[in-house]
Amino acid sequence: MIETPRILLVDDDPALLEALPEALRLRLDGIEIDTSENADDALDRLRETDYDAVVSDIKMPGMDGLALLAEAAEIRPGTPVLLITGHGEHDLAVQALRGGAYDFVQKPIDRDYFVASLERAVHMRRLDRQVAEQRIRLEQHARLLEHVDNGVFLVDKSEIVRYWNPAAAAITGLAEGTVVGQPVSTSLIGWDGIVAGVPVSSEPGPSARDATVPLDVDGRELWISVSGVELEEGIVYAFRNLTEERALDKLKSEFVATVSHELRTPLSAIYGCAQTLRRRDVEVDVETKERLLGVIAQESERLTRIVSDILLANQLDAGGLRLERQQIDLAQLVAEIVEEMRASLASREDISFGIDAPDWMAPVVGDEDKLRQILINLLDNAVKYSPEGGQVGISVEVRGHGIRFVITDQGLGIPHGEHHRIFGKFYRVDPNLTRGVGGTGLGLYICRELARRMEGHVSVTSQEGKGSTFVVDLPLEPARQAEERGTARQTA
Ligand code: ADP
Repeated sequence: MIETPRILLVDDDPALLEALPEALRLRLDGIEIDTSENADDALDRLRETDYDAVVSDIKMPGMDGLALLAEAAEIRPGTPVLLITGHGEHDLAVQALRGGAYDFVQKPIDRDYFVASLERAVHMRRLDRQVAEQRIRLEQHARLLEHVDNGVFLVDKSEIVRYWNPAAAAITGLAEGTVVGQPVSTSLIGWDGIVAGVPVSSEPGPSARDATVPLDVDGRELWISVSGVELEEGIVYAFRNLTEERALDKLKSEFVATVSHELRTPLSAIYGCAQTLRRRDVEVDVETKERLLGVIAQESERLTRIVSDILLANQLDAGGLRLERQQIDLAQLVAEIVEEMRASLASREDISFGIDAPDWMAPVVGDEDKLRQILINLLDNAVKYSPEGGQVGISVEVRGHGIRFVITDQGLGIPHGEHHRIFGKFYRVDPNLTRGVGGTGLGLYICRELARRMEGHVSVTSQEGKGSTFVVDLPLEPARQAEERGTARQTA
């Protein structure tokens, strides 16, 4: 919307102040004109109003037009000032122009010239304002780009990177200084090969569908979702980091593959045994029948364990796990667990278990089921990854303000670089290395998370080819102490 122009007319001659606005209003549609009889009043008005132009007589009592020009430039630097000079006052006119006047008009005023000059001045002032507004908007956009989460960069027509926002630097790890001014192909390794597949539209908006492409940043593969918009200066690309999402997608599909495989193995064993038992044409002796039923029971247990591991991991993720407080007899618990393991791992009769626990231990308070789960997972791994005839040990001792369990095996061990990662969800060290030993990669994740919930932690030391030792430290409180505190609370 074009606003009506507003000008200020300054003259000590009341007749002119009356006549000139009339003439201007006739010629300049909708123009608003304020008048001042002296420079001081004019300056006051200038302070209040951002006029499109000021027209002032040069000769006035008190402050003259030239002084007003100088003051006005201070108050409103962009406002054009037209000065009216007397006939033949060329020197003054030149002085006015030197002093920054937009134009001068000689008396007697040539109205056509005056109106045309004033129109130009108003137009120029408008353009100036627009440029200033655009500059502010651009600055705002630039500031916005400094703060957006998406990476944004500009590649000019000579393929040089001209802009690189902080998000681009954060996502790629490439600092602005190392990228801006450089050819895009040297900064972004692999860009040349993928740029053809990156959609570039002529205007921003939903028409620009992003492409998902990999970049090589310092030997690290970075997946980005990127699209571009063509501008006069070059192409502006905006991108998002998809590396984690892709890793998660990969993890998910690996998980589905692992779990399906893990479920299928016991299922086919159960199915096979059941089919054999149902056959009418084959005589199944009692001993074989017992063995087949044993396999069915054992494999069903395995299925249950896999499913409850998945559920438990999910529950741990959702943070919805409640811990019970029960009295636990640790020495008895350890003995029971080892007994259970022996029974459930009938196929690994070659493994011998060693228990190192005091004959009697003061009962502690904690969640027995969760503790059992941690120890079973660790013992199960110790057996799974043990060679033929391996020895698996479990010890329990009171240590400082808590209890320490140590589970050892003489199995294939874990490469040092993997010690941290094996506690990750679904993480399995190269399944080829573990020679087809099954697993979901959830066991250690569950152990670590459960121990954390109990304010303890699990750690590992291991030597490849020699075996592994898992240590679980839990601040389990002696039952008597807990009881005393409970009583104290009740009586307080
Ligand atoms: P899984 O179901 O694969 O056993 P875990 O989370 O229990 O999942 O273990 C993760 C990985 O850590 C295993 O795949 C295995 O490679 C390694 N691992 C765990 N315990 C042992 C161990 N006692 N000896 C050797 N490797 C082990």
